[in-house]
Amino acid sequence: MTDANEPLFERVAIVGLGLIGGSIALASARAGLAAHVAGHARSAETRARVEELGFCDSVHESPSAAVDGADLVILATPVGVFGRIAEEISDSLAPGAIVTDAGSVKTAVVRDVGPHIPEGVHFIPGHPIAGTEQSGPDAGFAELFDGRWCILTPPAGTDREAIGRLTAFWEGCGSQVEIMDAKHHDLVLAITSHLPHLIAYNIVGTAADLEEATQSEVIRYSASGFRDFTRLAASDPTMWRDIFLNNREAALEMLARFVEDLTALQRSIRWGDGDALFDLFSRTRKIRREIIEAGQDAEAPDFGRHPTQTRHR
Ligand code: NAP
Repeated sequence: MTDANEPLFERVAIVGLGLIGGSIALASARAGLAAHVAGHARSAETRARVEELGFCDSVHESPSAAVDGADLVILATPVGVFGRIAEEISDSLAPGAIVTDAGSVKTAVVRDVGPHIPEGVHFIPGHPIAGTEQSGPDAGFAELFDGRWCILTPPAGTDREAIGRLTAFWEGCGSQVEIMDAKHHDLVLAITSHLPHLIAYNIVGTAADLEEATQSEVIRYSASGFRDFTRLAASDPTMWRDIFLNNREAALEMLARFVEDLTALQRSIRWGDGDALFDLFSRTRKIRREIIEAGQDAEAPDFGRHPTQTRHR
């Protein structure tokens, strides 16, 4: 944590001011981590809304103007445009600045952003493991990262002091920081986040294709399980398209394993193998318990968020 009188960074530039960018600005303000927060979003509408909400000290029409003079730059747009933005801001990056991101995939970010980082600028990709299915500047809240992990994937040889400063920033935002190899990150997130979203998109899509009469029953009786999938399947389509396009190999690898296991389950049902079903369901129940014990969700069906942690800033 920092001395309240001495912010960790003079100017933090956030490119992309939706759920994640907005929450970073609010969490940073809560802990006094930046003397000035400069922001950029693509549309005039979002920029005007951010001015109204007041979570940036300055809002800029171009990403280059936002990062000008910044000692910390955070990319928080969908990952598919990171490369283009990095190229655009490259000449405006100050020597000694840290460039990081909040993208949900990491190998592709290293590939797309890395080549545009000038000599003397530190590049430390990152991923806060926190989110909701909401998007846009109104969705952000200061407590989003509290008690959640933030994974940093610094390339070999990255300046240790820069890693330390970025770690302190995320800790100030309420997170615990873990350092990981980018490829390993992508594999872990493929099973913990990407595959669950794909399954949710698929099951909700299947229900949407049912004939109309059955569809209305799907909605009426959704509390029997379907509802929980719809929350994931309501996540931003642009963001998730970019995640699957940019974590192709790891997502396909996990999907292949999933399909194999699903086929085994299909066989158990077909042959009436109750023991196999019972064994699996018992093992999975234990994992749920471990997640609650690790403080990563609550017992109550509020998706792990307490009333005080929801929509306020
Ligand atoms: P979001 O709420 O949809 O916000 C995206 C922001 O990026 C908006 O300000 C948008 O501006 C801006 N943007 C979009 N395309 C742009 C472009 N071509 N040029 C400049 N700005 C552009 O998204 P989010 O949920 O905050 O996600 C942001 C990043 O965080 C993604 O990389 C995602 O993978 C990662 N992430 C998300 C979550 C999650 O649960 N949502 C969790 C962890 C990490 P406009 O409004 O003007 O279009």
